[in-house]
Amino acid sequence: MKKIQNYINGALVAPQSGQYLDNYNPAEGKVYSLIPDSDKADVEEAVEAAKNAFEGWSSMPVQKRSDIMNKIADLIDKNHDRLAEAESVDNGKPLKLAQRVDIPRASSNMRFYATAILHFSSESHMLDGEAVNYTTRTPVGVAGCISPWNLPLYLFTWKIAPALAAGNTVVAKPSEVTPMTAYLFSEMCIEAGLPAGVLNIVHGLGAKAGQAIIEHPDVPLISFTGGTATGKSIAATAAPMFKKLSLELGGKNPNIIFEDCDFEQALHTSVHSSFANQGQICLCGSRMFVQESIYDKFVNAFVEKVKELTVGDPLEDGTKVGAVVSEPHMNKVISYIRLAQEEGGEVLTGGHRAKVAGRCTDGYFIEPTVITGLKHNCRTNQEEIFGPVVTIMPFKEEKEVIDYANSTAYGLSATIWTENLKRAHRVAHQLKSGIIWVNCWLVRDLRTPFGGMKQSGVGREGGWEALRFFTETKNICIKL
Ligand code: NAD
Repeated sequence: MKKIQNYINGALVAPQSGQYLDNYNPAEGKVYSLIPDSDKADVEEAVEAAKNAFEGWSSMPVQKRSDIMNKIADLIDKNHDRLAEAESVDNGKPLKLAQRVDIPRASSNMRFYATAILHFSSESHMLDGEAVNYTTRTPVGVAGCISPWNLPLYLFTWKIAPALAAGNTVVAKPSEVTPMTAYLFSEMCIEAGLPAGVLNIVHGLGAKAGQAIIEHPDVPLISFTGGTATGKSIAATAAPMFKKLSLELGGKNPNIIFEDCDFEQALHTSVHSSFANQGQICLCGSRMFVQESIYDKFVNAFVEKVKELTVGDPLEDGTKVGAVVSEPHMNKVISYIRLAQEEGGEVLTGGHRAKVAGRCTDGYFIEPTVITGLKHNCRTNQEEIFGPVVTIMPFKEEKEVIDYANSTAYGLSATIWTENLKRAHRVAHQLKSGIIWVNCWLVRDLRTPFGGMKQSGVGREGGWEALRFFTETKNICIKL
C-alpha cells in the first residue's frame, strides 16, 4: 500500500515514530494509502529546517523566487490529469470538478503570487516638508499553514503561495483526511528546485502535528482554514503568544432570491451553489430565502432540478454529486437531516444515504436534500452542516430577509438575486458577510479580499491582503 511521506528539509522522509494512519477512498469506503502520523519531533525538525532556510530564501532576488514558484505552477499543469484523479480518489469529489476547478486553481494560486510579488510595493508619506516616512513590509520568518479537506490542493496552495512569495519559509499541514495531492505537490517542489527547507510539509492529525505547529515558539504567524471550533482552539493557543493569525472558518451562507430576479439564472446557479462539491464548500448557499410571490414556483422548479442530479461514481463522466469525504462526516450530515425533521422540517427530496452500485457500494454518498418548513432560527438553520443539504424559507420584504440572513453567528458569504440595481446595492451593504455575490456565485478574482465576518474568521486572504499578512510592517521616519 502506498505510503505518503513528509517533506522536510528538501527530502521525502518517514515520520520519526514510524507510525502511519489509514487514508480512505470515500467513494469505496476503503483504506487505500497510509499517512505519516507525525508528532512534535517531526514538527521540530521541520521548523528547524525552515529556520535555516529563511535567510537564503528571504534574501533571494525576488525574480528568482518568482521563477521557482512559476516552475512549480508549470509542473502542476503538466501533472493536471494525475493530480485531478488523485484529488477525486482522496476526497470523493467528481473527477470533472477536480479537473475543471481544483487543479487549475492550484497552479493559478502559485502563478498569481509568483507575479504579484514582483509588483508589491509600499507607501511613503511626506509630512509638510518636515519629515518623510517610508514603510517597509518584510518577510516575518517561519509561517505555519494549515488547511482543510474540502478543496485540498486548492486551499493548501492558496496559503503557501503568498507565504513563500513574500519571502517566508513554511511549515504546512494538509488535512489528514485528504493528504494525497499535498504529497504529490512536495514531489513537484523537489523537481522545480525549491531550495531545501523553504517549504516543509508535515502530515498527520490536527490535535498532534497541527497543534505542535501552532504551539511552536519559532512559528510567529499562522494561517489557518477550517472549522470555527478548531479556529477558536488555535486562537486560544496562539493569541497569548502574540502570533499573527489569519483564520478562515465556517459559514452558513444565505442565498436570497427576490421576485424580480432572472428566474432561470437564479434557479440554475442555486442548484450549483447548493450542491457543488457535495455542498462541502465554505461558500455554498445552504440557507435559501425566496420571496413569497415566487416561492411555490421556485421551490417546485428547484426540487425538479435537484432530482435530476446524478449521484454516482466520482470517476464517471456523468456524475454531478460524488461521495462526501468520510464516514464520520456522512453520519454528521445525516444526523442534521434527522434534526431538521425533528424540528418540523419537510424533506422534499433526498434525506438518506445514497446507494451507488459497483465498486462504490460501500461509499459515503448522500442524496441531495432539500428541506422546507423550518424557521430561520432553528438549529438546522443556524449551524454549519457542510453537506448536500439546503433549506428553503419564504420571506415577504427586504428588511425581514436581511434580518434572517444576518441571524447566524457566521458571516462568510451571501448571494443576492435581483434585477433591481438599487436593491442589490442596498441589501449588499446591510448583509454582515465578507463576500457578497449579486446575480452570480463563486465568481473569483484572486485580487479581491477573501474572508468572513463574525465567527467566519479573522483577517482576509487574497491579493495584497495576503501579502500584507505574510509580512511585518515597519515605518521609518526621517527628519528633513
Ligand atoms: P477542521 O477544523 O477539522 O480541520 C482543518 C485543519 O486543521 C486540518 O488540517 C486539521 O488537521 C487541522 N487541525 C485540527 N485541529 C487542530 C489543532 N488543534 N491545531 C492545529 N490544527 C488542527 O476542518 P475540516 O473539517 O478539515 O474542514 C471543514 C471546515 O472548514 C468547515 O467548517 C468549512 O466551512 C471550513 N472552511 C472554511 C473556508 C474559508 O475559506 N473560510 C474554506 C474551506 C473550508
